Amino acid sequence: MDSLIERAARDLLKSNHAIALTGAGMSTESGIPDFRGPNGIWTKDPEAEKRAYQTYHNFLRNPKEYWEDVLGGRSMLGDLTGARPNPGHEALVELEKLGILKSVLTQTIDGLHDKAGSQRVLEYHGSVLKLRCPSCGTRYERSEYDLQGLMLEDKLPPRCNKCSSPIKGDVVHFNEPIPSDVAHDSLEEAWKCDLMLICGTSAVVYPFAQLPRIARQRQVEAQQKAESGLLFVKNESATTIIEINADPTPLTTEGISDYLIQGRTAEILPRIVEAVKKLSQ
Ligand SMILES: [Zn+2]
Repeated sequence: MDSLIERAARDLLKSNHAIALTGAGMSTESGIPDFRGPNGIWTKDPEAEKRAYQTYHNFLRNPKEYWEDVLGGRSMLGDLTGARPNPGHEALVELEKLGILKSVLTQTIDGLHDKAGSQRVLEYHGSVLKLRCPSCGTRYERSEYDLQGLMLEDKLPPRCNKCSSPIKGDVVHFNEPIPSDVAHDSLEEAWKCDLMLICGTSAVVYPFAQLPRIARQRQVEAQQKAESGLLFVKNESATTIIEINADPTPLTTEGISDYLIQGRTAEILPRIVEAVKKLSQ
């Protein structure tokens, strides 16, 4: 067994509250393009990125026009509804079923963790499969609204069933605040976890990027307490941060992560699950 894979498996088995942070590296394995990679959507089309900065403002200014743009234009990401989860998503489901993984915090917007069957998923940047009311925070499945029908009948924008405000896609645009429920729950998870499995993200986009740094800060504080004799229970609040990425990231170089397992998430995560099962036999 590869020594780092085994180390990760042992750390997971020791943990009381493990969580996963996932990003674009999970999705590219399902054939979904990323935004800023060499073949990223915005790398190839910088004008599209400039337009994307206006989307939230457009919604606030004129929700009807926002929806006409959304429904009339071609999605930058292509059709994500047909994308399928890959072995990396399935491995995280298995870790949850084993009672080890408590939640998945994701930057991805493709809904693939949900589709794979993960039970507790916090979609930090929203989901293309959902709609959301910015006024009261209620989310709806996209299929609950006949958006094309509303456009044909000139009844855009769609309105919230609870508070009648115009609703938007659930995906969080530039300059749009992270929905307060997800922001709150993610922070709580980052504080609570004693193991953070970072999968396919360099976590450089704030405020998501603060989550591994919060976990790291807790680890530093725990060490300081232990050294000064203030910590009564050994390893009371130490957090292990494991990174799975194709290449080293700022998390690696800044010493945020304890160790990096270099490779594709769709290959490494199933191997970790296999090792967990072998070790717990
Ligand atoms: Zn509402």
